[in-house]
Amino acid sequence: MEGNATRDPVSYVLTLFGERGSAAYIGEAVTQTEHALQSAWAAERNSAGPALIAAALLHDVGHLLHGLPEDCAQDGIDDGHEELGARWVEQYFGPAVSEPVRLHVSAKRFLCRTDPVYMQRLSDASILSLRLQGGPLSPGEAEEFLNNPHADAAVALRRWDEQAKVPGLKTPGLDHFRPYLEAARAQSAS
Ligand code: FE
Repeated sequence: MEGNATRDPVSYVLTLFGERGSAAYIGEAVTQTEHALQSAWAAERNSAGPALIAAALLHDVGHLLHGLPEDCAQDGIDDGHEELGARWVEQYFGPAVSEPVRLHVSAKRFLCRTDPVYMQRLSDASILSLRLQGGPLSPGEAEEFLNNPHADAAVALRRWDEQAKVPGLKTPGLDHFRPYLEAARAQSAS
């Protein structure tokens, strides 16, 4: 499979959603693929560029790449999916896509520190994983987070991520987002 990823990472990752994306999204009423599509669609409707739309689509790809069960947070395991996903994404799509992916858990911890309304609206599964992820950032950590050049993109992605858990919501399909993945890949190569 890795060989295909090197030759054509866009087709590879879209196939990965097709093959593994029907798994439930940790404690939510949507599948991994539905969650990814709702996130990417929110990014598109908010006029994000190709790299951030690609990041929204791929932000949880680490869940598809690793072999842990999707509900491992319920067993007290933090799966580190953001690192795993970001490392894979970085090889093919560059930092404008991989860094918001890497930071999307930190962005949640940042928002829990800085936005009480955001924290109140977290789903039960997300509150459970928050504890395993280290809880809200400390004030010092929140300041440090903002110094990252990809912080704003990660926070935007995180808000779309949180909205992308609507059972049965109709979205465009995976192929709709292929051109954004191709464009993000082309940008990273130029
Ligand atoms: Fe997510």
